[in-house]
Amino acid sequence: MKRPTIRLKPHEGRRARAGASWIFSNEVAIDQSARGLPPGSLVEVEGSDGRKFGAGYYNPNSLIAVRLFETLPGAKIDREFFAGRMAHALALRSALFDRPFYRLVHAEGDHLPGLSIDRYGDSFAVQVTTAGMEAQTEAILAALDDVAAPVNIILRSDSPARKLEGLSSFVRAAKGEVPSHLGLEENGTRYFADLSGGQKTGWYFDQRDNRVFMASLARGKSVLDVFCHSGGFALSAARGGAREVNGLDSSAPALALAEEGATANAADGICRFVKADAVEELQRLASAGESFDIVICDPPPFVKSRKDLESGSRAYRKLARLASRVTSAGGFVMLASCSHNIDRNRFQTECAAGIARAERRASLIRQSGAGPDHPVHPALPETAYLKSLVYALE
Ligand code: SAH
Repeated sequence: MKRPTIRLKPHEGRRARAGASWIFSNEVAIDQSARGLPPGSLVEVEGSDGRKFGAGYYNPNSLIAVRLFETLPGAKIDREFFAGRMAHALALRSALFDRPFYRLVHAEGDHLPGLSIDRYGDSFAVQVTTAGMEAQTEAILAALDDVAAPVNIILRSDSPARKLEGLSSFVRAAKGEVPSHLGLEENGTRYFADLSGGQKTGWYFDQRDNRVFMASLARGKSVLDVFCHSGGFALSAARGGAREVNGLDSSAPALALAEEGATANAADGICRFVKADAVEELQRLASAGESFDIVICDPPPFVKSRKDLESGSRAYRKLARLASRVTSAGGFVMLASCSHNIDRNRFQTECAAGIARAERRASLIRQSGAGPDHPVHPALPETAYLKSLVYALE
């Protein structure tokens, strides 16, 4: 069947011409044919000058009206197409990692907009965030079968982003079962994850390299891992030779997995995990005059949408202030943000302001983002969402 064509207004599609895979709603000439298209329809995109942008999917209700598949015009979007892209993604991960625990597909970064897949050995957690990708679910699952022969495929269709696309929220097994307790390994550290609930698909693979760096500073040191989830930074610091590791998080199930991980890494003697609100606990520790050689602060996103930029920025500044207050002289503090909606410069400005408010002199010694299994689309700098800054404090 011939796909409908979405036409752009004159002189529009500037970013797509430069290689981006997004067409914005204000760039589209909404004519009769576009108006009637249901969210998620497969379309062809054409500039007003006849330039063909190839296949994509359209959502009239989204600010990003079309996400392009970066294909030739008329290309088939089917099981074979997805298997080709996934095989490419898999080859990249196989070149990067020895062990089968990583983000296999990172949406736009792997030229599969709206689709993320995390791999936990032979269990694969699939997260679809757009109506366009939801419409392709059958082909995607078949392609994953072809490329990776999974035992379990879990549809983690519960990310908040789905609501904006008019999609329902659910978690179910598309193949096998949904493991609620599963072991994984990163840089030689053992962890546990629950793929049936909790955050992301069960694990934050994006911080892998930052965990290695923080662990490299940890020998003989005391560590405070604020927002520790299931022990990502905490357990790797413990394995890095930390003297004492304290983790805090508001999620009891995440902390139970962290405790289990401590035992599996023979680090239960030096690890202590506490359920607490981060801000309250940091304030309490500061008032009690406690400090730690290394403080890691990896909070949930504070800028969930653009309208939250000011309030979220204030929250990052406050956290930077509180975290620096409990960092020992000569110690290190890592401050991270996973919000798409605050850019690196603004985040860095807020962190600097917070550290200054705590009356600490600091040197920024490392600026990084997500690991290489979270590739950035070269023409979409927005896809580099994770910011991580490490400061040495005097
Ligand atoms: N650092 C972790 C990932 C952190 S994700 C890792 O390396 O894997 C953010 C965490 O913040 C989640 O585990 C969530 O439960 C926790 N959280 C959210 N709000 C919180 C609060 N107010 N106080 C403490 N923890 C909170």
